[in-house]
Amino acid sequence: MKKLMAANWKMYKTRAEAEATAREMVRLIAPGLPEDRELLVFPPFTALAAVAGAFAGQKSFAVGGQNFWPHGEGAFTGEIAPGMLLDAGCTWALAGHSERRWVLGENDDLVGEKVAYGLQKGLSMVLCIGEKLEERRAKKVEEVLDRQLERGLVPAAREFANRLAVAYEPVWAIGTGEVAGREEIRQAHAHTRDRLVQMMGEKALEIPLLYGGSVKPDNASEILALDNVDGVLVGGASLTAESFSRIALA
Ligand code: PEP
Repeated sequence: MKKLMAANWKMYKTRAEAEATAREMVRLIAPGLPEDRELLVFPPFTALAAVAGAFAGQKSFAVGGQNFWPHGEGAFTGEIAPGMLLDAGCTWALAGHSERRWVLGENDDLVGEKVAYGLQKGLSMVLCIGEKLEERRAKKVEEVLDRQLERGLVPAAREFANRLAVAYEPVWAIGTGEVAGREEIRQAHAHTRDRLVQMMGEKALEIPLLYGGSVKPDNASEILALDNVDGVLVGGASLTAESFSRIALA
């Protein structure tokens, strides 16, 4: 399975900044990117087309939307449709990122609706899952992951396993500098893999499982070497091409 090296730029960068970073990423990463790796960037909406333009002709570089609303079009002020993401050059989208769940109030059912809808409209989807610190302390990690997987991947989504990735991102490790330990990552990823196989059968063995949470150039190779870690989703350390190139090539 190819490893997916994903950058989440959150609410950072103007169009000019995004385009310059994307071009620099191509310069630094494309010549050395191993055949079995793909690079994926989630810029803010206004910069999607600029980043897609900078990546044009790079077959291992892709662009994704950080969010969308699960309808084709309509009276949804402030929202964006999957077809608009595709039109801007996206092939991927995120759903269930912890900032959308816990800062912007999205629940499991809305996340599930988005995953299924995005897949049906032709996007590849990254479903993000992960426990909060109090849930880990209460020994509820597996219960939380099971619920987020079950509700995030409704039956209509499960037929698109070939366009699906799951990112395990413990909420307490996102943007905090706190990285989950090797054993914590190993256990959560093994559990996620087992659960996906129970839900979807053998095809779940081909779903990339990404780790996210304070991945940096100096810890990326150790994380990528763990069983069932098929890539990373990186926030802060993806904002400069120099830092992300060291992760992508780690
Ligand atoms: C993220 O935004 O998905 C993320 C993992 O952020 P950070 O790398 O900054 O922890």
